[in-house]
Amino acid sequence: MLSGVVFNIERCAIHDGPGIRTLVFLQGCPLACLWCQNPEGQSKHPVLLFFENRCVKCFRCLTVCPTGATSISEYGKVTVDRVLCRNCFKCVEVCPSGARRVSGRLMSSKEVVYEVEKDFVFYRRSGGGITLSGGEPTAQPEFAAEVLRGCKTRYIHTCIETCGYTQWEVLEKLLDYTDLVLYDIKHMNEEKHVRFTGVSNRLILANAKKVVTKGVKVVIRVPLITGFNDDEDNVRALAEFVKELGVRYVDLLPYHRLGVGKYKLLQRKYSLEDLEPPTKEHVSKLRDALALGYGLDVSIHGGR
Ligand code: SF4
Ligand code: SF4
Repeated sequence: MLSGVVFNIERCAIHDGPGIRTLVFLQGCPLACLWCQNPEGQSKHPVLLFFENRCVKCFRCLTVCPTGATSISEYGKVTVDRVLCRNCFKCVEVCPSGARRVSGRLMSSKEVVYEVEKDFVFYRRSGGGITLSGGEPTAQPEFAAEVLRGCKTRYIHTCIETCGYTQWEVLEKLLDYTDLVLYDIKHMNEEKHVRFTGVSNRLILANAKKVVTKGVKVVIRVPLITGFNDDEDNVRALAEFVKELGVRYVDLLPYHRLGVGKYKLLQRKYSLEDLEPPTKEHVSKLRDALALGYGLDVSIHGGR
């Protein structure tokens, strides 16, 4: 039996696939999107979260930290140096206030399927199931495949949300056990894609073309990021690409700021501090451009 690192399991979700779903977030992602809402899931391994406001300054963490990553700042605050931190989690064991926690835990595929199966009755009634997200499900391909296979054998609808940035063989293997693919496309322009996500979009677009040949249902998902990809040129290029793929469904996910606080827990700077979510009017305009101009079936999830 395989084990993998899971950083969250969210029940009764309704936006990531049909019906009522259990979202399983797998640790690890090859992209580093500047707006990432789950930065704790980017590393392949469990990571330390430090809730500074819960610290009662008992200084126990200082006595056990083997690398000197934990220290006291000149202002008397307890701090974590992420360069020195080895994520050994000794500080978590001794912290009495819950100021230190681990994000990500090792679970067997059997444990994950067991957790997912608990809501089977809701799936039956609503047409829901499991959605593997992250991070990025293809970052733990064998584990993801075994979880999906386990769900399929229990007649649970399976969905993956993927950025598509992986070897085709990896993605193809997951499709054998997947009913629905939520396929993220962030930008059609390669240079911009590199600048905002850290990687080229070539592999992503090439894999999208292959996914649609496999007969699995595909929904294209687009995070709408103000000033990055919400201009008419990009939306037009995206619509033409989606039409060429033969995909009918598009989800627009307007940028929001719900994940911003997580960066503080990781002692990371959020580089889009001043970024505002797109207005409702602008999102509606883009939806209409895709729906009326290209005949696509467009849904909007979240936003302000
Ligand atoms: S996780 Fe380990 S290395 Fe990192 S701050 Fe805590 S004790 Fe130090
Ligand atoms: S052990 Fe916890 S409460 Fe004590 S100083 Fe460290 S972080 Fe703060």
